[in-house]
Parts: sequence; structure tokens; C-alpha cells
Amino acid sequence: MIKIEILPMFEDNYSFLLQSPCGVNAIIDPGDPTPTINFLNKNGLKLDFIINTHHHWDHVDGNAALKAKYGAQIVAPEKEAVQIGDVDIKLKDGDIFMLGEEAMLAIETAGHTMGALCYYFADSSALFTGDTVFSMGCGRLFEGTAEDMFKSFAKIMALPDDTMIYCAHEYTRGNAGFCLSQDRDNEDLRARIAQVKDLRVQNKPTIPVSLAIEKKTNIFMKAKSAEEFSALRIKKDTF
Ligand code: ZN
Ligand code: FE
Repeated sequence: MIKIEILPMFEDNYSFLLQSPCGVNAIIDPGDPTPTINFLNKNGLKLDFIINTHHHWDHVDGNAALKAKYGAQIVAPEKEAVQIGDVDIKLKDGDIFMLGEEAMLAIETAGHTMGALCYYFADSSALFTGDTVFSMGCGRLFEGTAEDMFKSFAKIMALPDDTMIYCAHEYTRGNAGFCLSQDRDNEDLRARIAQVKDLRVQNKPTIPVSLAIEKKTNIFMKAKSAEEFSALRIKKDTF
């Protein structure tokens, strides 16, 4: 099992520090390098890999500083390698990257950006979704279509229900309001919202969240067609 530390950055971003049992460490989406450096210093750890889900600045801007300081290698989507820059290990859909003895599967999830990858650690039941799936939400369609995103959601939803989702932003409360507006009589949704409020009052992250709970509460996971998905995405844009 990998150990996962959630490191908040900026207003509402998360990066994730992964420690494999054999001592290989990685950071996912370090938009800001400082929380990573502080955590590594405090715990006397080295950094081996920097892993990016997609090319947006709030996910990659810490790459250079961390690579310079630790000599870590950058692991990123092949399709976005030019935008990200200085990528050492380029991944595409279906590739397996080994973090120590832990296998990480790259799953291409076009929509937010066209080359975005989600990363799945089957042995740890952990999935890093970047800006594709958020708790009770879905990423904005900057590069892809609603149909692309609908297909990407289907790939994620095919994973085991006990998969724990780590998304890159704390958007949960805002997303919950939209889900509730579309799904008033959903008791699972109301229970999750109560839990989310409680966590946010304590300034705690609302993630990880299981895929099982997301399937019951995330309105975008309930869409049965690309058309329905698209209509929801359009409504959410102006909610
Ligand atoms: Zn993004
Ligand atoms: Fe982002």
C-alpha cells in the first residue's frame, strides 16, 4: 500500500505526496513546490518522481523547482509533454508506471484537456483524477467535448466501487449545491452534504471519497447519455 499525504496549495488545489513501502516517493500535481518541500524536509524524505495529470499551471508550475532541488524525474502525459516541458517519462493510455513495487495505470481521460491522464493504483485502491472527476462534480471542458468527458467518466466508473478518488481541487461544497438542485430527493446526497459541511467547518479535505459514494451522489455519474451529460455541464456553467 502506498501512503498518501494530501498537501493543500493556493485557494483550493491539492497535491498528493505518495510514499511507496520500499521508500520511493512521488508528488502528484505540484502547482506550488513549497508544501512539498516543507513536507519532505519535516519528514527527512527524498523525492524521486513528479507526476502530472495535465498541463495546467496550477498542476505543473512547481515541477522545475522540485526537479532542480531533488533531481526527481517528471512523469506526465505524452500528449501534453511539450506544454509541460522537460518530461522524462511520457505516459499514454494503458501504460503502467512502477512506483517502487506499486503499479500505477495511466487512464486517458480527455475532456478538461485532451491529453489528461488519471492515475490508478489498483493495489492501494487509489485513483488520482486531476481536474476530470471532482467530488460531486466534473472538470470544465477547456479542450474536449461533453462526449469526450462522458466517455472519460465511463472509464472511471468501470473501476471497482471501493476505489478511493483523490481529485485536485476542493470544489466539493459548490458542486454539492448543484447536485442538490438537480436531485432533491436523494438521501445519499443529503447525507454526503452533511458530512462535507462538517469536514469543511474543521477545515479538513472532503476527499478521498469512494467511487461507490460518487456514483450515488455525483449527478454527472447519473447521466445516461452524452446528451444528458452535456445538458448538465451547460447548466453547471451558469449555476
Ligand atoms: Zn486544470
Ligand atoms: Fe486545476
